[in-house]
Amino acid sequence: MTYDVIVIGSGPGGYSAAVRAGQYGLKTAIVEKDNKLGGTCLHVGCIPTKALLHTADVWEYFTHSAEQGIHCDNPKLDWPLVSDRKNKIVSKHAKGVEFLMKKNKVDVIKGYGKLAGPGKVQVHSERGVETLETKNVILATGSEARMLPGIKPDAKRILTNVEILSIDHVPASMLIIGAGAVGVEFASIFKRFGSNVTVLEMLPRLVPVEDEEVSKELERYFKKHGIRCETGAKAENVRYSDKGVALTATLANGKVEEMEAECLLVAVGRKPNTENIGLEGTAVQTDRGFIKVDSHQRTGQPGVYAIGDIVAGTPQLAHVATAEGMVACADIAGKPVTPINKLRIPGATYTEPGIGSVGLTEAQAKAQGYDVKVGKFPFGANSKASILGMHDGFVKIVSDGKFGEILGVHIIGPQAFELVGEAVTAMEAEATVDTMIHAIHAHPTIYEAMGEAFNNVYGQAINI
Ligand SMILES: Cc1cc2nc3c(=O)[nH]c(=O)nc-3n(C[C@H](O)[C@H](O)[C@H](O)COP(=O)(O)OP(=O)(O)OC[C@H]3O[C@@H](n4cnc5c(N)ncnc54)[C@H](O)[C@@H]3O)c2cc1C
Repeated sequence: MTYDVIVIGSGPGGYSAAVRAGQYGLKTAIVEKDNKLGGTCLHVGCIPTKALLHTADVWEYFTHSAEQGIHCDNPKLDWPLVSDRKNKIVSKHAKGVEFLMKKNKVDVIKGYGKLAGPGKVQVHSERGVETLETKNVILATGSEARMLPGIKPDAKRILTNVEILSIDHVPASMLIIGAGAVGVEFASIFKRFGSNVTVLEMLPRLVPVEDEEVSKELERYFKKHGIRCETGAKAENVRYSDKGVALTATLANGKVEEMEAECLLVAVGRKPNTENIGLEGTAVQTDRGFIKVDSHQRTGQPGVYAIGDIVAGTPQLAHVATAEGMVACADIAGKPVTPINKLRIPGATYTEPGIGSVGLTEAQAKAQGYDVKVGKFPFGANSKASILGMHDGFVKIVSDGKFGEILGVHIIGPQAFELVGEAVTAMEAEATVDTMIHAIHAHPTIYEAMGEAFNNVYGQAINI
């Protein structure tokens, strides 16, 4: 039997592509090396972290409830139950992915998959090695945490996103190297659960891919809430110590400081899983391990596609992996293909305050020569934000003065990762600043801040 498509890897890229291939009536198999389907996102990424972030929100409501006139005497955090809830959410959705494979008649093959010549995929498992025939392969093997040279993660003291999700108590203190989305989300979780958290980032700001003002606001908030943030800092010489783990940090001002904590989270980026998947001898091209693709997700090797975290040039996000899977399947099935537009990919960071963004930052828009017009609105002037007790942050619109084109939207504040949906839809529909001004925003809502920020491109917000 020859498959139409074999997908290697069952993360959000791979499993969604398998579903879509099944929906198109293609004879499809998915190969997964782990026991459970779902990949990084479901098991050690998006879902467990967001479950913990939600519990941190709930915990904060209880610990600050007196502000709302509710006295909760001595609320207690039961960490095993917190972890258990997170694990149950993950298991429920892993079963959901299994169900989707059955529903869409996708063969699930457990084992390690690799390319084995044109039209062939080899699967290595306890059963031995089997070779499958296929017309097309979608590589969706994802990524794993990068490590600093000379150190290895363990279960207790040196952690990546994998080990930290299984720790059996809230650590008294935590060092975090890396202030991208993963680093700052764990900082937001564990600080609120009571850890003493220090974040070290080599670049000059937290969340360096975001608009500069967003980075500044997050740093201001984190510092105000007791998270030590050292940007422009280099961490070296990580070692075990009596307390747990120690490192030497060279801070932005040149001062060298020895730091120590119960544990260290290394969150310095993600390495694509492209070694040992049979790329040697193929025409697949890579750039520092990431696979180069065209706008249809085709690699240089006919019949071999790549999607998700292994792809060069698109951000490592679950929804990007899924969207790229849709593109690859459409191409395979001979359907119309709408390539990924990198300027319409939302970024979402689920810290408190949250971050949602899409399109160009102000600096990028200026560098590209646009006549940049910015409209901002602070959540401090939004009545729903006051009701929620979440005044920090703002909405920032980056637009082009010539036609009112929306170039980017950058939000930090309550539910920013949900609000960004309006911006993505507006940009996808090619709405202008004027269209968005005329879109009526309900009162009192958080998303009214969007309407106000669009108005403020012309200096015409009402409530500031
Ligand atoms: C802590 C953390 C939080 C995150 N939070 C978010 C978030 O909130 N939102 C968001 O959009 N993104 C988030 N991400 C990023 C997101 O998890 C990834 O972008 C996404 O999982 C990528 O999907 P993928 O399908 O490319 O690969 P993965 O999810 O990495 O899945 C790859 C799968 O392939 C399997 N595999 C690898 N090699 C082989 C092989 N040779 N044979 C068979 N199987 C193989 C792996 O076992 C794995 O199951 C987060 C990441 C981390 C680490």
